[in-house]
Amino acid sequence: MSGKHWPPGTQCVTKHDHNKPKAGELAFRKGDVVTIIEAVEGKGWYRARHNESGQEGLLAGSVLRERGAIRADHKLSLMPWFHGKISGVEAVQELQPAEDGLFLVRESIRHPGDYVLCVSFGKEVMHYRVVHEENMLSIDSQQRFYNLIDMIEHYTKEQGAICTKLVKPKPKTGMKSAEEELAKAGWLLNLQHLTLGDRIGQGEFGDVLEGEYMGQKVAVKNIKCDVTAQAFLAETAAMTKVRHKNLVRLLGVILHNGLYIVMEFMSKGNLVNFLRTRGRAQVTPQQLLQFSLDVAQGMDYLESKKLVHRDLAARNILISEEHVAKVSDFGLARVNPKGTDNTVLPVKWTAPEALKHNKFSSKSDVWSYGILLWEVFSFGRAPYPKLSLKEVTELLEEGYRMDPPEGCPPAIYALMKSCWEMEPGKRPSFKKLTEKLQKELKHLRDV
Ligand code: ADP
Ligand code: MG
Repeated sequence: MSGKHWPPGTQCVTKHDHNKPKAGELAFRKGDVVTIIEAVEGKGWYRARHNESGQEGLLAGSVLRERGAIRADHKLSLMPWFHGKISGVEAVQELQPAEDGLFLVRESIRHPGDYVLCVSFGKEVMHYRVVHEENMLSIDSQQRFYNLIDMIEHYTKEQGAICTKLVKPKPKTGMKSAEEELAKAGWLLNLQHLTLGDRIGQGEFGDVLEGEYMGQKVAVKNIKCDVTAQAFLAETAAMTKVRHKNLVRLLGVILHNGLYIVMEFMSKGNLVNFLRTRGRAQVTPQQLLQFSLDVAQGMDYLESKKLVHRDLAARNILISEEHVAKVSDFGLARVNPKGTDNTVLPVKWTAPEALKHNKFSSKSDVWSYGILLWEVFSFGRAPYPKLSLKEVTELLEEGYRMDPPEGCPPAIYALMKSCWEMEPGKRPSFKKLTEKLQKELKHLRDV
């Protein structure tokens, strides 16, 4: 026995081949991904479903390993075949030796903004101009695509108007295919097993849909824009490194329609809506403390992994069916292509040193956590009511801090204030915050 326990819904990778399964057992090859359905009483076996074939069967826990983490480096690309601005001649050189279906995409030099799909075929290289039509991309004015990723996906399956199906991408030097790396590590899910349902939320970069993956309820974030999808790889990579009861779990990703990020389903939605729609009448002080503690524990874990959230706020906390609060949207570098433009920062949640000098750290997360505590104990009110962003920034410099929300326990208000120390080093760690909240919760239970 491996000693590890795999809860239902866990995605695991198999350590070796199992070609001759006995009755009821699952067949698999080394590196296959399976979803745990349930543990079998006693001997360390599991019932699991094979992600590729969809077949169900038994296997020993000892053949399973955890999926590896994805490293978020800029060499990992959703479009490794995209070579940017190179000339037609250079493209031809890149596609040597000739091989039918070997391809790349370049930016057109003659028609700025357009692209060229270059495909090796019968010892020659064909160049297809990709033009923008009504905000979509097309080669033949018949088939249209939202982005290059979709276009490549299409011509990999169908020849359509071009000389051959695309067979093999020619990666730009130094670029690694995100698809390959994700697949190798076991994070690439199978589109065929995903059923999409209603829209449950709207994110800044795309819709969030309800869905089902291999019998498990999931939430799916769809990012259609290829540039944004690439930026989101960083968030996804951060999610592959972590596993904690108070962090929203990533099941995997699918490269389709841009990027699908498949996460565990949090049926009670985000914390702000949860508190606003129920209010004082339905949510007990104990529940508020428990949510606060949940978040602090998730953040303590993130801090231990040296991950900085940068956008900690009640809107990014999700609530499970069992009322467990979990942190989402983490690891988001919030990459802004235009550089140091602060207009996208959530000013009222962001620590002064992060706003002014771009100094993000776990301690700036602690500042945001203080704001989150205020949101929680005011049942989802927007912080600094009636103050403009400019006023907030100025007043904070002068030492102004928000008043406690109505009915907020003094001990909790003291915690908020400690999170809002101007000097980052004076703020408590998430570990300390966790300890204090545990004490408060115990106190509340004892009286
Ligand atoms: P963004 O950060 O891009 O704006 P979010 O990830 O915050 O988008 O998602 C927007 C909304 O979608 C959330 O406020 C929430 O209501 C819903 N949502 C997101 N992820 C999930 C999930 N895993 N389970 C249930 N609902 C979710
Ligand atoms: Mg969000």
